[in-house]
Amino acid sequence: MTSGFVDSHLDIELDVPRSVEEMLFPDVYVGLEVDLLSPGDGIVTDRHHASADRYEADDPMNQIEGQISPFTLSGWLRHGCEEVVQVAGATACHPGESNADYMRAETYERDLESGYHEKGACVDDHNAGCVIYDLFGGFGDQPGKLLRRPVSFSPIRRQVDVLDGEAEAHFRQLSNQVRSRNEEDGGQPLRHAERDVLGNVEGTWKLTLRELKPEFVGLLLEAVSFLDAHSDEFAFQVGGARNFGAGIADAWLVNPLYTEREVRRVFNRAQDETAAMAEKDEVWRSECRDEFVRALQARVAARDGDVSMPESGDES
Ligand SMILES: [Zn+2]
Repeated sequence: MTSGFVDSHLDIELDVPRSVEEMLFPDVYVGLEVDLLSPGDGIVTDRHHASADRYEADDPMNQIEGQISPFTLSGWLRHGCEEVVQVAGATACHPGESNADYMRAETYERDLESGYHEKGACVDDHNAGCVIYDLFGGFGDQPGKLLRRPVSFSPIRRQVDVLDGEAEAHFRQLSNQVRSRNEEDGGQPLRHAERDVLGNVEGTWKLTLRELKPEFVGLLLEAVSFLDAHSDEFAFQVGGARNFGAGIADAWLVNPLYTEREVRRVFNRAQDETAAMAEKDEVWRSECRDEFVRALQARVAARDGDVSMPESGDES
């Protein structure tokens, strides 16, 4: 029996109770809830910015829509994937080129001694490299198998389509005045800083697998689960301004057994989960999830010998 997944390169055969046609693949939806996100330069908006002292919520100038760049999100996800592979006892592809001009060469060397191998060192004539290389891509002509899109956002919920990888979010420009503490300066501002932030981000990041290898799904499941469980740790927050609590993301993989309608329902505050969705959650948890993680274990073990996976949470 064929599952519709590409698993002939693995020692195991994927055993899931649903065919790939009954799942949302090749699309994978990462559900996101972030109270405050500050991705530095990673926001593109479609409007001129309204000034803060003239703010009125229903002023069209304040209904700013835009996009969160996939670079910020991709780095965050990749970090989670690397961590999963390393916790399993294998090494991950280093994200940087080995011949790059690193500002801190010793840091790169240290990375290679602790959980990383040189980017692309895992590729030989008859394999696609390690699972990180395969999924995220390598050098110029070697695209990753994971298509990462920007997340479009809007403050107006009815204009947000979670099936398109969109989120409700409220754009603001925060101004900071750093003032002199010296009495003689009379509290004069020394420096003015502006920061683009998004408040109350809620929606999806839509990913698409260009190749349906089950270990990719296993890796995404484990990585997102890891990122969610460690969301308040500095290293696993999204974007900049982490010292100020920005980028603490609740994240989960939306159940791939859901229909598109059910995905929409997850993000519709007026509607509860249906009995059918609850049943799919149970099927996913008890009969599917571990199969994909087993595929990841097989793929990693094929390169690095025996591996174990981190305890995952109880999310779906
Ligand atoms: Zn590699």
